Amino acid sequence: MNEIAAAVLAGDRRAIARACSLLEAGRGQGIARDLGGHTGKALLVGITGPPGAGKSTFTDQLIAVIRAEGKRVAVIAVDPSSMKTGGALLGDRIRMQRHHQDAGVFIRSMATRGEMGGLAPTTLALTTVFDAAGFDVVVVETVGVGQDEIEVARLAHVVAVLLVPGQGDEIQAIKSGIMEIADLFVINKSDQAGAEKLYQEIEAEVHGEKAILKTVSTTGQGVAEVWKYIESLPRRVVVAAAASFVIDHLGIAVGSIDEALRFYQDGLGMGAAMRETVESEKVRVAMLQAGESRLELLEPTDATSTIAKFLEKRGPGIHHVALRVADLDLSVERLRSGGARILNEARIGAGGHRYVFVHPASTGGVLLELIEEHS
Ligand code: ZN
Repeated sequence: MNEIAAAVLAGDRRAIARACSLLEAGRGQGIARDLGGHTGKALLVGITGPPGAGKSTFTDQLIAVIRAEGKRVAVIAVDPSSMKTGGALLGDRIRMQRHHQDAGVFIRSMATRGEMGGLAPTTLALTTVFDAAGFDVVVVETVGVGQDEIEVARLAHVVAVLLVPGQGDEIQAIKSGIMEIADLFVINKSDQAGAEKLYQEIEAEVHGEKAILKTVSTTGQGVAEVWKYIESLPRRVVVAAAASFVIDHLGIAVGSIDEALRFYQDGLGMGAAMRETVESEKVRVAMLQAGESRLELLEPTDATSTIAKFLEKRGPGIHHVALRVADLDLSVERLRSGGARILNEARIGAGGHRYVFVHPASTGGVLLELIEEHS
């Protein structure tokens, strides 16, 4: 196992910070993979809402409530740095500083790089780090601008949307998408004029189907009730860990494995191949390690094999791309519900891994194999 990942699992704060930095820099794939199997325990809470809703002050109070229960909490404060929001955010972050001496609290600021879709997958990777490090709760706080507030729903079990009275057309502004992704609405600064009007506006949209709670986060009023409600909600399905979706291997159909290995092993100097015959697919397989990924050479054992048919029709070449997923059944369920063409029921193939194939018509033109991380 990766050294930093091992230290993260042991709860080492410096290793946690280092892992976050590496993942943010796009250089933590090994860490993400090693931690991927140690997640799933933390409650992931998304907090979003327009600028000025008092999210950081609210989060600060929420930390105190969670800590009072003896639970450990990590906060990922996402700054859309590309949005030129000035220095206000930094001031907000400083409000959470009082928890910095607390070993049960870890606050991490993260800048999103792109304007759109900047939140995932890096934020997701960071939640993995804190989850694996044993934090009971991971709060992802995003400034509700651009796509971030919608995306937070993909990586949080519960999403709270904070609004404040007197911001004008806030309901109109947040209407698209956010109404669906919110699990609860929090009217913050509810001691201010217009709180009741805001309540009515939200209620007119949600028709009693979602909770609307009131807080005054400068005093902490109502925050414990919000936490209680968050804990009582069923956890929504979070997108599979960012540790997944690495290219497990590329499948290459060849006329002769021996001939191909003369190129890859003898010529290019790649390491020894793992050889195997998969009877169910009527195929001989040679796996060549290529960094964290692999090349899978496929040679038919029989003229009725799909690889034989592929060779006949298309000639030797890339046959499929294999992506690793954390939970194959979950991925298949998601794809099926979206209308993708799954070609087989999950079965066990080379190396004892469970896999399915997805038809090229659904994937942008390539036969896609989804392979489960842990078998
Ligand atoms: Zn394969």
